[in-house]
Amino acid sequence: MTTYSGYMGKVILLDLNTQTTCEYPWTDKDRELYIGGKGMASKILFDNLTGEEQAFSEDNLIVITTGPLTGTGAPCSNRFNISTLSPLTGITTSSNCGGNFGHYLKKAGYDALIIKGKCKEHTWIEIKNDKFTFHECGELWGMKVTESQEELQRIMDESRNCRVKCGILSIGPAGENLVKYAAVISGERAAGRAGVGAVFGSKNLKAIVATGNHEVPVDNVAMNDKHNLKWTNTLRKHPLTGNQLPKMGTAGLVSSMQVRGILSSRNYALGQYDDFDMVSGETLAEDYNIVNKGCMSCPIKCARTVNVKGHNVKGPELETLGLLGGGIMNNNLEKILQWNYELDELGMDTISASSTLAWAMEANEKGLWKTGLEFGKITNISKTFNDIAFRRGIGDELAEGTRWLSKKYGGEEFAIQSKGLELAAYEPRRSVGQGLGYAVSNRGGCHLNGGYLVIVENLGLHADPQTPHAKADFCMFMQDLMEAVSLGGQCLFTSYAVFPGFLISKPNGIITTTVNKVIPFLGPVVRVLNKFPEIASFHLWLIPHTKSLHYVTGMRMNLGKFLRTGERSYNVERMTNAKFGVSAKLDTLPKRLTDVPQDPKNPKTKVPLEKMKKVYYEARGWSKDGLPTEKKLKKMKIV
Ligand code: SF4
Repeated sequence: MTTYSGYMGKVILLDLNTQTTCEYPWTDKDRELYIGGKGMASKILFDNLTGEEQAFSEDNLIVITTGPLTGTGAPCSNRFNISTLSPLTGITTSSNCGGNFGHYLKKAGYDALIIKGKCKEHTWIEIKNDKFTFHECGELWGMKVTESQEELQRIMDESRNCRVKCGILSIGPAGENLVKYAAVISGERAAGRAGVGAVFGSKNLKAIVATGNHEVPVDNVAMNDKHNLKWTNTLRKHPLTGNQLPKMGTAGLVSSMQVRGILSSRNYALGQYDDFDMVSGETLAEDYNIVNKGCMSCPIKCARTVNVKGHNVKGPELETLGLLGGGIMNNNLEKILQWNYELDELGMDTISASSTLAWAMEANEKGLWKTGLEFGKITNISKTFNDIAFRRGIGDELAEGTRWLSKKYGGEEFAIQSKGLELAAYEPRRSVGQGLGYAVSNRGGCHLNGGYLVIVENLGLHADPQTPHAKADFCMFMQDLMEAVSLGGQCLFTSYAVFPGFLISKPNGIITTTVNKVIPFLGPVVRVLNKFPEIASFHLWLIPHTKSLHYVTGMRMNLGKFLRTGERSYNVERMTNAKFGVSAKLDTLPKRLTDVPQDPKNPKTKVPLEKMKKVYYEARGWSKDGLPTEKKLKKMKIV
């Protein structure tokens, strides 16, 4: 139990071998140190994994966590997190999802589920308040995502003779067949990255359904409601969260990325795509978008709805547009919509699937692995995705991802991955801080876990994208900030508003120009804040998350504590990964990005990774090997 509001006060450990449950000890001290969400999951993995486990072994854990803000009406707060040992990277991964499962898990009375063991038969689990029921899947196993979710809803409704409000998590054929980048889907939203769906599959677990009638307690309802209203208005007025994202979603970034030379094309050989306008957010909005959609309790609504073969379905995000557009030299937007839909239905991460495809096209072109996959040829792509999901023919090897393939066939220099995780569509040779982030990110080549410095360098502000100066310190700051945001259960887009609106809406104004010029010199200032976040013992209007946490939980919170919590979460995840061999030597990028200038005439257009890494480890207070020192761990109260 807990003295804090916002929490249900229960974490459940579910043993699939014995089909039994028990309560996992999680104290108020833990809540103060890790808040919830990913931080909570990271600490649980740190405490329970030894470094001997394999992703598909029974002793691997799946940890599904919510945040204290989930279900309280805070903007964009119905996110939940799934962490586990990834089959794609061999280290821990966390996938943040906007579906409704987290909300209903709390309605059932739980802050988190820890799953261990393996079901003997294909199974789905029903959670209703304190009752856990294990059902055999029957024909559910083998169904695609929507079909399985509709079937589960039908079963729930039929068993109670009424429409049951519930949250559903399920995998598709890709997860069942252990595709290393299979996703878990809740509604239309995916916990997509690094193969959490395959871990479900390896445990013979098809789906979890949660329902219940608990309410999330809020400490100061009046202040919380007032604060949420104000915050929602701020998000609605901000040029990124109130205009760009609602208007075009993340897809709206394609055109800006083209202008800035950071739109990955031809498997990252290029940073621009001649036909970008045919696959841009503008074209998507004008020709295909039916209506904007959002996750629960979201005032931003960045998702698109498009029609594919008579179905109104979720449209592609920027990453999918970029990687299945210029990434494979395809200008057919209608095909991208179709593939995006098919990948979701198969339950597969669109980023890794697309990037693996692009690698295979280049390997085919170079004669390393003859597959018939070619840049610009789109007739065999749909079949290839299906072959991956069912592990047929070349699909069986494509299901292993680019790192595995390039080790087998050669071509590691153009396998666009870090620690085994394929990069998103942001080409970092003209955004070197983003490049640093990809390399040091805990879960591998992730644009978000890497700190998303592309927003400072190219897409929000325009601070010199080629200089390494101050990038390490900003990278750490942004990583910890975004980490802290996700701990409460909120969408990372709420952190966009940390950049005052006027800086974004007036890119050529004197203040913005000055800020852009000054940022590369701000490293020492940011370093002080990173090192001594306690000095920020106040709330800052640009980061309303801290007040929200205070009003909801009753916990003492301020900006400094918030940043320190993000840092702690980031470090504990790094320490778990260290048990599985992570250190500086794995914080890498493919040679294409570090050794080959994007513009042959401009040697600066590559990522000076080693230089930035050194400063980054210093900024974090880590050893030269890229690991937190004993002193650092003690300071952060991790050990
Ligand atoms: S901004 Fe987009 S991803 Fe974030 S909560 Fe809203 S709809 Fe979901």
